[in-house]
Amino acid sequence: MHWIIDAVQLGELRDVPAELVHHGDRSSRVVSMPLVMFVLRSGDRTVVVDTGGLADEEHVRRKIPFGYVAGEPLEAALDRLGVRTGDVGLVVNTHLHWDHCSNNGAFRNAEILVQRVELDHALAAEQRAYEIALPFTGWQDRIRVLDGDREIAPGLGVVLLPGHSPASPASRAPAGHRCPSHDHAVVEKGTFGY
Ligand SMILES: [Zn+2]
Repeated sequence: MHWIIDAVQLGELRDVPAELVHHGDRSSRVVSMPLVMFVLRSGDRTVVVDTGGLADEEHVRRKIPFGYVAGEPLEAALDRLGVRTGDVGLVVNTHLHWDHCSNNGAFRNAEILVQRVELDHALAAEQRAYEIALPFTGWQDRIRVLDGDREIAPGLGVVLLPGHSPASPASRAPAGHRCPSHDHAVVEKGTFGY
């Protein structure tokens, strides 16, 4: 099964202390981080990996100690690919930090795939990275919980990559040999035994 993968930038975090991004970084430098939504298509199936941050920049800026630009509206970004939110059947959240799941509700017909370890952690954690998106209003009842590595569509799977957060699964598309992993790195076929 062949999958086409498009990366869509939905916004950007700016002036983020590198120590929050790269574990152990003591350089005191700051970095910018694009918020990327991956759109994976194969035949009539459309899967979205992560959905970016909130449109309300002021609300977010009050919550985080660095810069945030929301960028292009989700629907407009998808429109350029010829994709409508209602056509998306699956949303995969690599993890539940606010900058990866805030637009889940826009995909009204999609199941939301989340690793159990990540969901449990997000609901219990008192961390700012989760608080902005909690309580997952409007889409919590569509969550399908995963336990570890799974095939989620023909030729497409998720791989559990703990480290950045308890779950942080990556999507695995063997036919495309690419693995959009978010907040980790993009790795190719051959890594992790795939
Ligand atoms: Zn994160």
